[in-house]
Amino acid sequence: MPEFKHINIPAGDLIESKLGKLTVGDRPIIGLLRGDGIGLDITPAMQHVVKSAVAKAYDGRKEIQWCPIYVGLEALQIYGGEDVLPQEAIDAIQYLKIAIKGPFTTPVGEETHVCLHCAHQQNHGERCDACDKTDGIAPRFRSINVGLRQRMDLYACVRPVNYFEGVPCPNKSADKVKFVIFRENTEDVYAGHDFERGSKVALAIIDLIKEMTGRQIRLDSGIGIKPMSETGSKRLVRKACEWAIKQKLPSVTLVHKGNIMKFTEGSFCKWGYEVAAAEFGDTFITEKTLWEKWDGQMPQGKILIKDRIADSIFQQIQTRPEEYSVMALPNLNGDYLSDAAIALVGGLGLGPGANIGHEVALFEATHGTAPKYTGQDKVNPGSLILSAVMMLEHMGWNEAAKLVVKGLGNAIKDAHVTYDLARLMKKEDRENVTEVSCSGFGQAIVDRMSEEPVSAN
Ligand code: NAD
Repeated sequence: MPEFKHINIPAGDLIESKLGKLTVGDRPIIGLLRGDGIGLDITPAMQHVVKSAVAKAYDGRKEIQWCPIYVGLEALQIYGGEDVLPQEAIDAIQYLKIAIKGPFTTPVGEETHVCLHCAHQQNHGERCDACDKTDGIAPRFRSINVGLRQRMDLYACVRPVNYFEGVPCPNKSADKVKFVIFRENTEDVYAGHDFERGSKVALAIIDLIKEMTGRQIRLDSGIGIKPMSETGSKRLVRKACEWAIKQKLPSVTLVHKGNIMKFTEGSFCKWGYEVAAAEFGDTFITEKTLWEKWDGQMPQGKILIKDRIADSIFQQIQTRPEEYSVMALPNLNGDYLSDAAIALVGGLGLGPGANIGHEVALFEATHGTAPKYTGQDKVNPGSLILSAVMMLEHMGWNEAAKLVVKGLGNAIKDAHVTYDLARLMKKEDRENVTEVSCSGFGQAIVDRMSEEPVSAN
């Protein structure tokens, strides 16, 4: 076992991963990154729901052993330095293979320091000008979320989008929405090759392009490079195909802008079809084969692989959501589509997420730290709870996952919800809306795990 300075690995079963297969014991040790801000509120609510569902699903034979891992504000407080993402946190997640995290503060402006209690930014490292606390001030740093993804090569960002009956949302076909979006996490614009106008690199690239192609780019242009590799594209599409097979889903759609960017977006699509044919050829059929051989009727046991241009998919998910299940996208388009899709079903409050790599999976709340609500036991823990559902499914504990979904669906159906959903429900003149706290919502879910399933998909 690696040596850790401040992380105590509890007694329990280490999760093993061999050739892509997980071995999970009855007392698996799972990393827990509380998160900053409202991470304080939503994390215990999630733990309570998961503990109850697991105990109920397996009659007390199974139990998760949580291992706290310190990142963000907790890292400052426990390690006492300035590093918000210590190397031993990365080592511990990689050792444990599975972890779940709350949100983390990210500096956004030009200031030199940020307060991890309240996200205020300022130009000194003393007491916070906004919240008056002294023990949460960090020198400006790069996004912890991006750091976690990059340092562990968590190349697939997975975002399920499901509708729960009773959630107020603008889309008439919301009940037909059941997507899982796989967004590439390491290339395209996320590779970070972005050069300021007039910089040495920007000017050199402009020169090179002129010299090699004869094409002129304005000298006062900023230059961004959008690398998309065969390796990066294929491993992402492979994960999406594996997900569709494991979850018995009907289709995988490759979304791209290949009509304009032939050798990046277009190649992503081509490589996607190649990996499906080469590695899962018995399972996947293309739309061409579907019509030529099967007269448009999907044969049993097969999964359709198709592609759509990125701009049209934004219309399609609104007008024909039932035609899409798993979607695989390069980074930037995946970013846009994930947020647009979650809006169809009522917004980020109930949007779970995960970042998955070769062996490691990190599940996460998709909203931010909402510092003004920190410690008030007020916000909606749904995003983190549904991320825990993904985690339970990833572990093969589907019975517990189903109980959580059932409890959450019933709590929403009964309108026992946190302020954000309560407010929207009241606006729609729903009767008998009970506004509950963050922990109260967790309890409402636990209390409703045995009731009949609702139509949440
Ligand atoms: P935010 O998501 O924290 O909050 C915006 C607003 O959304 C809040 O004021 C609140 O009204 C609402 N909200 C957010 N989460 C909610 C929940 N669970 N229940 C009910 N209402 C909720 O976004 P922001 O204010 O732009 O960012 C605050 C901080 O969070 C910043 O430092 C930002 O960088 C960080 N952030 C982190 C992540 C992440 O870790 N994944 C994601 C987004 C933002």
